[in-house]
Amino acid sequence: MIVMKFGGTSVRGAERMRRVAEIVHNRLGEGPVVVTSAMAGVTDALSGLFEIALRGDREGLDDGLGRLRELHLGVAAELGGAGQSLDARLESHLRELRVLLRGLRLVGTARARSRDAVLGHGELMAQELLAAALTAAGCPTRLVPSTRVVVTDACFGAAAPDLEGTRRQARTEVSPLVEQGVVPVLGGYVGASPEGLPTTLGRGGSDLSASLLGLALGADAVEIWTDVDGLMTADPRRVQGARILPRATFREAAELAGFGAKVLHPASIDPALQGGVPVWIRNSLAPSRPGTLIGRQASGGGEVRAIASRASMAELRLHCPGRAMEGDFLGRLLLAATGPGPAPIQVAVGPAGVAIILPAEQASLAERQLVDLGEVQITASLGLVAAVGEGLAHRPDRWALWLEQAADLGLRRIVQGPFGSSLGVLLSESNVQTLVERWHALCLSSVEEGP
Ligand code: ASP
Ligand code: MG
Repeated sequence: MIVMKFGGTSVRGAERMRRVAEIVHNRLGEGPVVVTSAMAGVTDALSGLFEIALRGDREGLDDGLGRLRELHLGVAAELGGAGQSLDARLESHLRELRVLLRGLRLVGTARARSRDAVLGHGELMAQELLAAALTAAGCPTRLVPSTRVVVTDACFGAAAPDLEGTRRQARTEVSPLVEQGVVPVLGGYVGASPEGLPTTLGRGGSDLSASLLGLALGADAVEIWTDVDGLMTADPRRVQGARILPRATFREAAELAGFGAKVLHPASIDPALQGGVPVWIRNSLAPSRPGTLIGRQASGGGEVRAIASRASMAELRLHCPGRAMEGDFLGRLLLAATGPGPAPIQVAVGPAGVAIILPAEQASLAERQLVDLGEVQITASLGLVAAVGEGLAHRPDRWALWLEQAADLGLRRIVQGPFGSSLGVLLSESNVQTLVERWHALCLSSVEEGP
């Protein structure tokens, strides 16, 4: 059995859905389970509509809903074949969405659970369309609602999956279909709380859905189909000559994702790692390319294999001499500093206080939450560049070489991953590009060639 997940750009429009159907059709013998994201841009649109509804903007809401309807019915029409039943199912999702959003508009406030119910509709509709494309391509297909399979906690907006619950559900709702030669099609990103309310796994969470299902089903592999050829030695938009990594370890992939490579959701590595399920990154627009295999294999002894970077970072320093290690101080601090947004990159705790590296857009919110705990200072306009390679920690003799390259670039702090598979620096944002280029040049000398 294999889990094949298709991202938003892979299912954007009828033409691309047909390509996806062909990719799946070629793999019928391997027992594919298909997971889809919403079409590219749809979750953003839904998130916008949620805000519009809360502002009470009736016209804006109707406009936005109209556009979503046009988009999805348009793709359905282009796919043809599936006829009225597909239209009727899409209309029923759209109706539910309209009722939800109009309700929110009238009430003017919402709980996180309503937001999840709205945002999950992108996957619900993509799932219908992709199932139709698969059927048209000759795949025996069955739609499986993710709310019946992916069990999560009730932390709406960024729900954590419950592996045991999901395993139980997957074995009854999904496995039997595969055994009968049917392709189950699930929407990613969506799950359900123990009470059965729809939840979402956080933005970009379809990757996590796929690796979770891979683990729950005991799949032979998880394939993340996207619009790039795989993990690369650097972001090709920043560096000419960036190459595909034919292989990476789970840790390298997790570090790359966490430090800014956009290919994979950082949390999605965790379930795969737990079960040792290999994860492939493949390009749905160029399916003959081999992609990247992420697995347990060691990839060497501390060579740097790729460079990742993130702009728009901030450093927040909290002066609280002697208190950082006391009682529940750190727990309170983390709760206050993180909020609903993306997690901080690093928290450094010392006797004099705490430094937190976090996305700049979160810094002022965190500052407001932290003023009660001590004096807060924020430095913004920072960037992060990280060299990633399993076993880097075991080669301290090489660190000096890498750090030297950053010495004249406003180096501010050294950032190391907890397992020593990355060496990063925080520096002024304007120097990120230069350091990425310098480090990538160093990195290329140690990257293995493709197969
Ligand atoms: N559609 C969701 C998002 O855009 C989940 C995903 O695509 O992974 O965040
Ligand atoms: Mg994604």
